Amino acid sequence: MNVYADNAATTRMSDTAIEVMLRCMKEEYGNPSSLYTIGQRAKEILEEARQTVAAEIGAEPGEIYFTSGGSEADNQAIRSAALLGKRKGKTHLISTAFEHHAVLHTLRKLEKEGFRVTLLDVHEDGLVRPEELEAAIGDDTCLVTVMYANNEIGTIQPVDEIAKICAAHGVLFHTDAVQAVAHVPIDVKKSGIDMLSASAHKFHGPKGTGILYVRRGVQLLNLIEGGGQEKGKRAGTENVAGIAGTAAALKETAEAMREKTEHITAMRDRLIEGLSKIPHSALNGDAKKRLPGNVNFCFEGIEGESLLLHLDDRGISASSGSACTSGSLDPSHVLLAIGRVHDVAHGSLRLTLGEDITEEEVDYLIENVAQVVEHLRGFSPVWRDLVQGKREFIL
Ligand SMILES: *Cc1c(COP(=O)(O)O)cnc(C)c1O
Repeated sequence: MNVYADNAATTRMSDTAIEVMLRCMKEEYGNPSSLYTIGQRAKEILEEARQTVAAEIGAEPGEIYFTSGGSEADNQAIRSAALLGKRKGKTHLISTAFEHHAVLHTLRKLEKEGFRVTLLDVHEDGLVRPEELEAAIGDDTCLVTVMYANNEIGTIQPVDEIAKICAAHGVLFHTDAVQAVAHVPIDVKKSGIDMLSASAHKFHGPKGTGILYVRRGVQLLNLIEGGGQEKGKRAGTENVAGIAGTAAALKETAEAMREKTEHITAMRDRLIEGLSKIPHSALNGDAKKRLPGNVNFCFEGIEGESLLLHLDDRGISASSGSACTSGSLDPSHVLLAIGRVHDVAHGSLRLTLGEDITEEEVDYLIENVAQVVEHLRGFSPVWRDLVQGKREFIL
């Protein structure tokens, strides 16, 4: 059996989106800035996509900018807010310790440029505390950026409360919603979000296309100099096919979400229950306040990497920490942020389910993870020490 259980890393593209893109590439090859008919048809496709995307998150079309992905959207939102804040003498930025690197590395760079950055602690349940955020806000704070849902442990942050606090203090609020858009209902107006980032390949769209929502009235600076595309905020001939595919995928996945959230949540909970039976294991993050498809466990006495390779042999695609952090020796900054010690964090496994996951597939995951964990513990020196009492069990 093959089970793709790494939907937080990327998703299989929607057939509808592929068809839309193929048609765009074959027939609608005009440049949206050209005045003749095929150019104007491409522009229409672009504007229709903008309307579709806006409608799905409760925004207006004029508030949607297309970018090259979630990373670019994060970079632009944060850098723009920081530079605009600086013009008013506000150079303090607030975020959390477990953001995606697109956010953390942008903040680190701004810190080198003279900005002050506060990273809020994330508690053991994988959630930030709004009261701690409020306490961190000062007169010189120009931006709060807190992710909607974490990409490793799936925990969903109290975004509405955070937005309220930011509004009360006159501070801009950006959220990296790359993992949340099309997977949980989002309404930027109801939530009071000023800026939001999303990425098409996380909801069955193409890689290399992202969305930046910026509330009307909030100023935005461009990162890329060039032509006047995207109202002068993002130069470069538009990725018409990618954008059309993004809109098609978003519409389809958001519809599937409305129908299938209950199913996928039930599958997630079945998987959590099954894996909890493995001795000396622990779920990472709150069991309920998490994305419907996200399961993340630590297993004591093993290495996540070996676990992945053995699971791959059994047809299971999974992840240990974030796809972007593998290849580095340090364990995931997210797991460290929620208080897991190094040894335990190294034995982590993330399984992220797609909408069409079946009960048989979930049972296959449970059975195989349990077998591989037992197998690996069989020749792990760390496990031997634990069992012989030379080290203490943490989980
Ligand atoms: C995937 C991801 C990103 C980056 O998006 P890309 O389109 O791959 O650049 C940013 N933030 C989060 C939370 C993500 O999961």
